Amino acid sequence: MKIKVGNIPEEGLKLEFSKDGSWFDKVLPEKERIDFSLHRVDICLSAKKVGETVSLEVKIETAVDLECCRCLEGFTFPVKTEFKYILIPIKEIFEEELELTSEDLSSGYYENDVIELGQIVFEQILLQLPLKPICSDSCKGICPHCGVNLNEENCKCQMRAVDFRFAVLENFKVLKQKQ
Ligand SMILES: [Zn+2]
Ligand SMILES: [Zn+2]
Repeated sequence: MKIKVGNIPEEGLKLEFSKDGSWFDKVLPEKERIDFSLHRVDICLSAKKVGETVSLEVKIETAVDLECCRCLEGFTFPVKTEFKYILIPIKEIFEEELELTSEDLSSGYYENDVIELGQIVFEQILLQLPLKPICSDSCKGICPHCGVNLNEENCKCQMRAVDFRFAVLENFKVLKQKQ
């Protein structure tokens, strides 16, 4: 998923293509390998060039398999996003400037006339993912006592906790009577 800046025609470039989710594993350095699985990614892109500055408009549609942080079950999270991205050649930037702007996710740099699209697309997908994934707003989670998934079955822990309290009270009464 590379774009040669020299190949972008004056009237701009339009591309539509899909990538297998596993393809992104190859784009990323080892340390950034992801622990969720990405479905097929559909990409619709237009690129325009003004001088050496390239502006991208990208639409992404995909889905990600995540684990619900309440019930720990896997679920599929759909991702659909659109973004604009400005790229300038790296040789024109002084190092200081590079540091100042490197946090800005809507702009970046290209080197040797090549835009690495994989990294840009992947970053945008990551931005769409929830910090605390929840399979549904009504997810009941798991019982902290017995670990049962409360979306699938009811456990008796809540009731037993109440029973236990009554039992303690009853014993207390009995003890008192004996005195
Ligand atoms: Zn859940
Ligand atoms: Zn329980």
